[in-house]
Amino acid sequence: MYVAYWHPEISLVLYTMKITDARKYFINELQSFYDEREAGNIFGIIADDVFGLAVELNEVDIVKLNEIIGRLKQHEPIQYILGDADFYGLKFKVTPAVLIPRPETEELVHVVIQHIKKLYKEGIKEVKVLDIGTGSGCIPITLKNNLPQIEIIAIDISDAALNIAQENAFYNNAAVIFKQVNFLDETNWSSLGTFDIIISNPPYITIEEFNELEVKVAEFEPKLALIAQHPNALIFYEKIASFSLNNLKNKGIIFCELNALQAKNIQQIFEQKNYSTNVIKDLQGMNRILKAESLTNI
Ligand code: GLN
Repeated sequence: MYVAYWHPEISLVLYTMKITDARKYFINELQSFYDEREAGNIFGIIADDVFGLAVELNEVDIVKLNEIIGRLKQHEPIQYILGDADFYGLKFKVTPAVLIPRPETEELVHVVIQHIKKLYKEGIKEVKVLDIGTGSGCIPITLKNNLPQIEIIAIDISDAALNIAQENAFYNNAAVIFKQVNFLDETNWSSLGTFDIIISNPPYITIEEFNELEVKVAEFEPKLALIAQHPNALIFYEKIASFSLNNLKNKGIIFCELNALQAKNIQQIFEQKNYSTNVIKDLQGMNRILKAESLTNI
């Protein structure tokens, strides 16, 4: 697999590896960790991100590749190793302070973009949006990037996450207003104002589900972003429903990502507070997005 050649200027034997061979080597090294298709996908990300789609790897590249393989064998997610993740055509910096953006969340963002475009068509020009628990900022930044006229505020309890989100907004040139807020504390609600659209992908994993998670998620991603630090695992949905009674404008809509296994219970939480609800399935056929409209005018 390695090709050795004599480098006359530095009088050393150097090695190179063709990218196609490197791919085979990579898949083989990780065969007990990832199936061939997944390993191939990860290699594709590395080839693009680290090697700039080169056709031949030099010695430094081979050392880098081996370092990445070592970290993957420790179950570290590739996005944390490389420091970034792709989301809806944009790049986001990620560290263990923020959740890695998921494809399901791209679907949530897509639904919201379509909804706001519909509002524009109906002649509604001013749309004010709130994202609760923004993490890396993937939701508000993608929305602002696609719909520059919206006004968008994003909140999170974690300063470390907000620092990453600010950087992401800067790199993606998106004017998002970030605020550090503990959303579960209701005394913070009135200062946030009122919104046409409220979005959230809240921490929604139950303790039982957490114990079943892959090492890759449970040991590397922030627990604060996965699990509500509260005896009621669905507390965020309860609070979003209560908050929206006063902070969602007339005809406003809430879009939440769902714990698919709790979709019915979450729907009930909203219906008990007088919202009409719709659940949209994701590409895997799971109940993933809740759309809730208030039947009470404010
Ligand atoms: N809103 C962020 C995302 O969708 C973070 C979600 C979270 O930390 N629960 O990735």
